Amino acid sequence: MKAEIIASGTELLLGQITDTNTPFIANQLATLGIDLFYASIVGDNFERFLGVLQQAFKRSDITIITGGLGPTKGDITREVIAGLMNEKMEIDAASKKHITEYFGRLGMEMPVNNLKQATLIPSATAILNPLGTAPGWWVEKNGKIIISLPGPPAEMQPMWLREVHPRLEKKAGSIIVSRTLKTWGLSEAKLDEMVGPFMGMPNPTLALYAKPDGIHMRITAKASNKETAYALIRERESTLQNMLKDNIWGVDDDTLEEIIARQLLNKGLTIAIAESFTSGFLAYSLANLPDSQRFFRGGLVTANNDIRASLGIIADSKTPKTDTQTASCMASMVIEKFYADIGIGLDGYIENKDGAVIGVAFVAVNVKGKKELNVSQTYPGRHALLARRSVMHALYSLRKTLTVL
Ligand code: ATP
Repeated sequence: MKAEIIASGTELLLGQITDTNTPFIANQLATLGIDLFYASIVGDNFERFLGVLQQAFKRSDITIITGGLGPTKGDITREVIAGLMNEKMEIDAASKKHITEYFGRLGMEMPVNNLKQATLIPSATAILNPLGTAPGWWVEKNGKIIISLPGPPAEMQPMWLREVHPRLEKKAGSIIVSRTLKTWGLSEAKLDEMVGPFMGMPNPTLALYAKPDGIHMRITAKASNKETAYALIRERESTLQNMLKDNIWGVDDDTLEEIIARQLLNKGLTIAIAESFTSGFLAYSLANLPDSQRFFRGGLVTANNDIRASLGIIADSKTPKTDTQTASCMASMVIEKFYADIGIGLDGYIENKDGAVIGVAFVAVNVKGKKELNVSQTYPGRHALLARRSVMHALYSLRKTLTVL
């Protein structure tokens, strides 16, 4: 089934409001396995609106319209649909009752203008609107469907979820389910090379997305029911897990910070950190988690070379140095100063090389009296992104250490 969305309202064309209804509906259609081929915005002009709707009705099986269901003359969606269908709008008793009662609950009498919100055409049935006056319209004619919903997202979304989604689910006969695997430590090109063969396959499909917290792999399966779709996903996920092992650090809504917090709390371990060019970003990432006072003992930002020398990170301020050794020194120092079980040192610098900004991060994860993990990594990008990536790099290294502790 092919769907199309029309967001109506001159305010949208004037840039006074941003269309958030289309992304919401687009997302919902994707989960239903309904293809969305077109989305447009049209103002409150009868001829132009009718033109857009005529085109949509011709080329798509389902057209979803939002907005223009209010009581004023400028709200013309019903009139446009009635015009396309060449049908007359008549008062619908049940809708009139709903609107009258809505005003009654507010202690008001229904203004006459609101009566037009109680109309239907013969091809339409009303979609109940529990949060507003305007019911929606579900129109079916010649095997095609038009769904008209109010503009305010607070009214539109519950109507979609309660009434429209279940009806479309029955019609679509298939559903789409997705699962995102989050990776770190492999470049997009390398990952593309490794999982490339799965990316050409139709069901489940696999797509890569570069995000600040790594490369995400989204597996999407289409089937007649959820169980079959999830089974397809599980099978592909297990192949990818075997292939990429601990380069996959989480799924769906997981954040690396939360995973680490759980690991630290489960093992009853405490942590302290020292960082330089990330200016407190690493400390913020850990301190900002629920229950952080139970595992995060504190941190230092060591930017100035005199301070770095006085703390023993470098030999003297005249010979600045930044490498895995300084990172390790920072990690051991905070284990001692903050009485922590684990110390992270995140040292590094950002340089401008031939016009490109490059960040070089050195990470050390030291465990009191035991283990040291020292790694370095180079990242291209803007300053904030470099800091984010370097912190991710440090957290990813910490997760690796915690997994085998
Ligand atoms: P009402 O009965 O409230 O007038 P309506 O169905 O006539 O609802 P519009 O008049 O088109 O809808 O829009 C009313 C309000 O709904 C807008 O001012 C805006 O705040 C919100 N709205 C409308 N369309 C959208 C959209 N596409 N995305 C986000 N918000 C929207």
